[in-house]
Amino acid sequence: MSDAETPDDYDVTDDSPAATGDDEFEPVQVFPESEDMDLRPGSDDCYKCSTCDTNCPVAEVDDDFPGPKFQGPEQWRLKRKDDHDIDDSVMKCSNCMRCDSACPSEVPLSQMHNTARGSFVENQMDKLSPEYIRNRILSNYRTSAWLASKVPRLSNFMMNFGPARWVMEKTLGVTAERDFPEFAEQTFREWWVERGGAQVENPDKRVAYFHGCYSNYNTPEVGKAMVEVFEEFGYEVMVPDQGCSGTPMFANGMLDDARRHAETNVENLVAAIGEGADVIASCTSCSLSLRQEYPELFDIHGIEDVSEHTYEALEYLRIHEDLEGELDGSEVDFPDLAYHAPCHARNQGLDGQAIEVVDRIDGVEAEDVGDSCSGISGTYGWKAEKYDLSMEIGEEMFEHMEDAEGDVGMTECPTCAMQMGHGTGYEIRHPLEVLEAALVSEDTSSA
Ligand code: SF4
Ligand code: SF4
Repeated sequence: MSDAETPDDYDVTDDSPAATGDDEFEPVQVFPESEDMDLRPGSDDCYKCSTCDTNCPVAEVDDDFPGPKFQGPEQWRLKRKDDHDIDDSVMKCSNCMRCDSACPSEVPLSQMHNTARGSFVENQMDKLSPEYIRNRILSNYRTSAWLASKVPRLSNFMMNFGPARWVMEKTLGVTAERDFPEFAEQTFREWWVERGGAQVENPDKRVAYFHGCYSNYNTPEVGKAMVEVFEEFGYEVMVPDQGCSGTPMFANGMLDDARRHAETNVENLVAAIGEGADVIASCTSCSLSLRQEYPELFDIHGIEDVSEHTYEALEYLRIHEDLEGELDGSEVDFPDLAYHAPCHARNQGLDGQAIEVVDRIDGVEAEDVGDSCSGISGTYGWKAEKYDLSMEIGEEMFEHMEDAEGDVGMTECPTCAMQMGHGTGYEIRHPLEVLEAALVSEDTSSA
């Protein structure tokens, strides 16, 4: 007889229907109250349809990865037993979040994965292991990028210097197969200060730009395009102090690091919201992080406010402006584009919008290359042991890009852009750069 069936658990009293002669059925309380059973919200919503498993790009190429259903609801159930360790396979999940959007029961899979990964790293990972040190360095990209941006030319040379890359692969497990992204000679924030900040003042139309690390240190042209386009629509752009969005930290279980950055971001973005701004991001992983992962993982004053006021940049213009109307009749000489929708754009329901928007512009032909995952998933494809898997996942996208008319790529995600360029040799542009070319006249652009 199990514990649950011991006579002590039966609530049979003199008030029972049999004793009182009352016909109304009173169920016997066999199990303790559900709150005492530690059933995490969501785990019981899973009815094991396996849709998440069939949508997981990592499970498709890695036979040792048990998939999102196991990483999510199954792990939660197992954790009810106090002595259960988190299975180390959780570190193979790339945090692409495709399982999140695939689940018909809205099981909060990525929240479960992020929490399990955080617990695994905190309690089970050797903090002196090369894997931990490598993951910490990769996920704190902002710190290395800040340092590298002080001497961009030297950094660009050193980061791609063959012997240095060989040493990095052998000691830390950072693949030598990829070229490090170039650091800009002038960061976005340096440009912003040199420019004198916002050129439009408008207390009725304000946006706070969350540029993220990559637009700041590597592709300031994306940030500049964002500013020019929004000013063209009459917005006053604010650029609050900010840290990393936390995306690479969530994927590596570095939740303490992520929380530190989240605290800075929430404090500064809440202040901007207080001045009438909405928050916009040009990177779909940054907008997803501020919108979904922050409130799922942290309890910080104002975090819900930030979540509710955050938008991806094109999404914001489509909601608040007649973007399509403005673009109708515009003409620009731009190369044909092979567009890849990042998984994190898909998760926010934004996967179709870039094509819809740029198709309005005469002279721009953009083709969607399908719904496959690019395979790099931030830091995942930078790990030596994951490099081949990452390229295998990306194979379908590379082929579709090569079949498409254009030989220039387009995407909103900086790491997808790295993978697209790496797999095809194409130059990759951001949709905001296309909008800038179509909407911002040469003489008003200070880019
Ligand atoms: S898709 Fe959702 S309901 Fe289906 S197995 Fe996965 S978690 Fe469970
Ligand atoms: S987040 Fe992506 S890699 Fe991780 S389990 Fe879900 S689908 Fe698979």
